[in-house]
Amino acid sequence: MKPADMKTSNKKLILNYFYNNETVARPDLVGELGLSKPTVSMLVGELQDEGYLLHAGEGDTGQQGGKRPQLYTFNALCGTAVAVNIGVARIQGALTDMRLNSLKQIDAPYSEGDPQQAFSAMVGVIGELLEEASAHRLAVFGIGVSAPGIVRSESGVLVNSARLRSWGQVPLKSRLEEQFRLPVRVDNAPRNIALAEKWAGLGKHLSTFITLQADGGLGTGIFLDGKIYKGADESGGEFGHTTVDMNGPPCRCGNRGCWELYGSDEAFMKRVADGLELHSDSMMAGAVRSGARLDLPLVAECVARGDRLARQLVEEYADGLSVGLVNLVNVFNPEWIILQGQLRLLGPDFLRMVTEKVKERALYPGSDKVRIGFSGFAGDTKLIGAAALVVKEVMEGKYFRSVIYS
Ligand SMILES: [Zn+2]
Repeated sequence: MKPADMKTSNKKLILNYFYNNETVARPDLVGELGLSKPTVSMLVGELQDEGYLLHAGEGDTGQQGGKRPQLYTFNALCGTAVAVNIGVARIQGALTDMRLNSLKQIDAPYSEGDPQQAFSAMVGVIGELLEEASAHRLAVFGIGVSAPGIVRSESGVLVNSARLRSWGQVPLKSRLEEQFRLPVRVDNAPRNIALAEKWAGLGKHLSTFITLQADGGLGTGIFLDGKIYKGADESGGEFGHTTVDMNGPPCRCGNRGCWELYGSDEAFMKRVADGLELHSDSMMAGAVRSGARLDLPLVAECVARGDRLARQLVEEYADGLSVGLVNLVNVFNPEWIILQGQLRLLGPDFLRMVTEKVKERALYPGSDKVRIGFSGFAGDTKLIGAAALVVKEVMEGKYFRSVIYS
């Protein structure tokens, strides 16, 4: 390795060590990373000058006494990321710090069949967030985008989206880079969700885990042996479209009996609506008659208040969800399956139902190993994941100098 490459590699090592640990004493780095004292001293100095590290006082002297060690901590505001999620008829945007905390969040509507309008909405949202960063003298490392459908992550082209069929191929990365003169990274929403969990969520210390979000469709992000799984053409990992009933109803993907038709929240709410027609005496039907919106929060509330119909429908939904989870466990042997979004409202009882069903049917020892839980993120993980695309680049040492956008 050339000396310059060696230096970058060591600097990256130190930066990541700080990212993954709270406060670190400089001498500890020598032991932990196997680097020499002068190297640590020089690189910590550089990282501090560049704004990545903050001096955090002095530590205690060891048993032998002597000089107090200097403490440092990662500076989450060394720079920011602009994150964008292309939702259905809505562009969401956030400015986040390097620990993926949202500093400002905005959104803008667009009409679904109109990619040009969506792009204009995206430009507006990004522009506003860059102005916010500039007003607070915050550096911006880059722009991350979560797109629905199949994305070529290298070129940042949205190739195909079942939800946005009329869009055709959209070169998101090149168009946004041309517009804003900042690095842009694009990937699809399920993979970005997995990335968010890896960088700042439950996946932090895991090497194989799966994220699942049921919001309209059923998206899976597969983090396999330390890497996001993409497949040869980056169209892999679409577990929502694996067949669970070969004679099942047609799916929007063109196949039949896909897991999505049983495991998505949309499918669940359709069954709830059918159930209400048959049980007009249920608590839930009463609530709807008095004007309540029939949605997942209402079902969750009715379950909590002891409505038998709601409870039975949730139990059936747990069946529909677990049938695909069993397949995931048998294929990938994950340590964790992290459920995203609104499913959290169904609470610990729902988790227990799903977990029991998976453990009963999946192969040992994978069935024994796997844990199923709700994501700890309060915000929209697709958006947090878009920011994680930028954080990942920073931690891989791609920039080492942040840019103040003006
Ligand atoms: Zn399908």
